[in-house]
Amino acid sequence: MTAGSQWNARAAQQLVRYVALFELIDDIQTLEDIPLIATRVAMRWKYFANVMSWRLVVPKDGGFYIIDGCQGKAGVVDAPELSPWDAYHYTLQRPCLIRRADPWPVPEPPTHLSGKNPFEITVLPLMRGKQCIALLSAAAHHEPFSDLDQRFIRMLGNHFADRVSGILLRQQATGILISKATRDELTGLLNRGTIIERLGNQLALARRSQQALSVILADIDWFKAINDSYGHLAGDAVLREVARRLQVQTREGDQIGCYEGNGQIGRYGGEEFLFVLFPCGAEEIPRAAERLRRAIADTPITIGGETPRDLRVTISLGTASTSGQDAIRMEALLKQADDALYLSKASGRNRVTVNAGGAAAQGIEDRLTRYSHHPR
Ligand code: GH3
Ligand code: MG
Ligand code: MG
Repeated sequence: MTAGSQWNARAAQQLVRYVALFELIDDIQTLEDIPLIATRVAMRWKYFANVMSWRLVVPKDGGFYIIDGCQGKAGVVDAPELSPWDAYHYTLQRPCLIRRADPWPVPEPPTHLSGKNPFEITVLPLMRGKQCIALLSAAAHHEPFSDLDQRFIRMLGNHFADRVSGILLRQQATGILISKATRDELTGLLNRGTIIERLGNQLALARRSQQALSVILADIDWFKAINDSYGHLAGDAVLREVARRLQVQTREGDQIGCYEGNGQIGRYGGEEFLFVLFPCGAEEIPRAAERLRRAIADTPITIGGETPRDLRVTISLGTASTSGQDAIRMEALLKQADDALYLSKASGRNRVTVNAGGAAAQGIEDRLTRYSHHPR
């Protein structure tokens, strides 16, 4: 082969690599799904930059996003903190090249990079001004990275990192917007509009599937007196703590006596909460409501300030249920629960009243009342 044809062959080979790089950049530009982008990179990186396995670490709200690629496959995980290798290079913030011939570094690289006895590993912090937006480690297996490999790695690494952090930022912004629209700011529970909307959906589902659904209304007893005695801020703290305890009970769906994970809770009014339990029938609801009552009444709430004090706080509850076979409207179901709540208040507070819709009145314990008519 003449020197000229050798040069042509090399030029053609390089052109193929440039085309592969630009095609990959174009491709990942159009995707919004990080695992999919990572897979495309894993499949095609070796064609133009001698990269067999790699890791990209991108900081995100409350932790890090870690993408590992190896032999054409990619995996993505959220991690609250960095491994020693990543933490070391993240803090170092300058490029490093670790060769097989050199002493193995401490801390050690992740096993998918080191395990196949790589020829060398390049580590690049990807900087925007003074800020590190990502850390890339890439391993070459059979021969060292050439200058062109290194340039390609930098170029794709930067583009890849920008795509990933851009997507994460957009996801975070959307999450914040959704949360603002659906959550109550003080307690973090679903807001009134959202819990009512959920109730509407679940009620329709209950009717279609002919399964039972129950609601519980809970209202803090003598809450105005807490505000009046200890101030509005203390009142807010009590509200937050009550909401937190109720939410914990709701998450442990089976514990509150309905099927696992199907309880939803929202802030229905100032110091009033609405639970939607589905599927959950009139038989299960007394135990569920009683657990909620005890979650508040059994343990005093400590309010802070200069002289912390324990407050004995209680809630009153009213429940209503539908078997899924009647065509009860949401307003009527809520009215039944509200009537039951009213009866709990009228008969001494810190108690549960079950609107059993036709069942005989029967106390299963001293803080439970059943009735089948409207008391007002
Ligand atoms: P009852 O046992 O009959 O329910 O008595 P109550 O004092 O709890 O009921 P009432 O409806 O008279 O008072 C509710 C109080 O809740 C009045 C209102 O100022 C207070 N409240 C409502 N929302 C908030 C809030 O976000 N923070 C604080 N601190 N107080 C609130
Ligand atoms: Mg109240
Ligand atoms: Mg109230």
